[in-house]
Amino acid sequence: MRIAVLGGDGYCGWATAIYLSNRGQSVAILDNFIRRQWDHEVGAETLTPIRPLSERLRSWRQLTGKNIDSFVGDVMDYDFLSSTIKEFEPEAIVHFAEQRAAPYSMIDRKHAVFTQVNNVVGTLNVLFAMREFAPDCHLVKLGTMGEYGTPNIDIEEGYITIEHNGRKDVLPFPKQPGSFYHLSKVHDSHNIMFTCKIWGLRATDLNQGVVYGTVTDEVSMDEALINRFDYDEVFGTVLNRFCVQAAIGMPLTVYGKGGQTRGFLDIRDTVRCIEIACLNPAAKGEFRVFNQFTEQFSVMDLARMVQTAGKKLGMNVEIKHIPDPRVEAEEHYYNAKHSKLIELGLVPHLLSDSLLDSLMNIAVRYRDRVDSSAMMPKVNWRQARNDRSSSAQATEPAHHAVRGNGSRSKTVKPEVEYSKR
Ligand code: NAD
Repeated sequence: MRIAVLGGDGYCGWATAIYLSNRGQSVAILDNFIRRQWDHEVGAETLTPIRPLSERLRSWRQLTGKNIDSFVGDVMDYDFLSSTIKEFEPEAIVHFAEQRAAPYSMIDRKHAVFTQVNNVVGTLNVLFAMREFAPDCHLVKLGTMGEYGTPNIDIEEGYITIEHNGRKDVLPFPKQPGSFYHLSKVHDSHNIMFTCKIWGLRATDLNQGVVYGTVTDEVSMDEALINRFDYDEVFGTVLNRFCVQAAIGMPLTVYGKGGQTRGFLDIRDTVRCIEIACLNPAAKGEFRVFNQFTEQFSVMDLARMVQTAGKKLGMNVEIKHIPDPRVEAEEHYYNAKHSKLIELGLVPHLLSDSLLDSLMNIAVRYRDRVDSSAMMPKVNWRQARNDRSSSAQATEPAHHAVRGNGSRSKTVKPEVEYSKR
């Protein structure tokens, strides 16, 4: 199968691209490397020393004899995107290419606007390019469990049956997103659902939980294939952050009471879920929704698990509660369904002691690269403008080249104050 992985230089995208390639699929990566620029912008660096995409792909070819095509450009550039789709002729498009950090979208107005333009326009471009040049192609789009928020009822997989005033219908499950980033995903879901209806496109919206881990079978083949491991306050996800904090002897920073409960999954399950979605495409005109996670934990559950794993490695891991910079329920009901991918063959890797040990070992292995100043939250949801740095200095801005008609082009910048590490 010919599969285009948009955002294939990123955390989920890289692991997915080489997994699919290893399973015999014909894979192309499309990316504009903007994520690497955002790292510079916020003064963060992945714990693991990732290589440039060209080097990753060369190593992959040398190790496996398999080729992955690469197309370097912006999903927001319609001419580039549509010509890539015409040239590669994908049967499935896996769309990871979005700004994916809630804190980044909450820095200030410009970051909120930038996140929504990048994500919503990018996805609209994908939909139009599919309609024009690949109408049978299956879109596998990464959404997030955060689209649903934390309602006081069970969360269904995409749709809920409602009886109202004696009538009954199956309707999209209500969305209560908690950041401008999560809102961008809701807007995407609506646009995708609409185009399945009006144009008969086929799409699977994967409402993914929080992903942890960095090692997959393919990534562990060689150091040159190493994947991202983000731990900073903007891009780091909670379990990775706790492992790094434990490794450097810093207390685990639990936001508020720590009762915030979410769905989680191992990166090895992310790649398998994508494969399952691609191999079992949605029908023409179908907008299908899967909840892509395997277990749910509260933040305190994770903190205690990391504390226990740390003890086994001889570490004294403290837990510290700090004020929650986000606006969210700190204790709440949470029960989200997640059976559709299991029914299609997913066998989850659950967060056992041994996995946590291996995560901790990675954190310990690279701990000399940790910048502890990147840990504490500096983006407060209650403020419309967050200055993330006391020593703000201009560095290379993160930007997009956005092409309009013909040769006109302009640059959109988040225009924040850039911190120097
Ligand atoms: P990432 O930031 O590591 O990767 C995203 C990639 O997309 C980057 O390589 C970036 O350069 C590229 N990109 C962004 N905008 C682009 C554009 N306009 N044109 C071309 N390339 C562009 O993110 P990730 O953690 O791999 O997440 C991938 C997707 O999965 C995102 O859509 C995210 O919302 C979703 N997701 C991730 C998680 C998680 O825990 N990582 C959880 C739920 C959902």
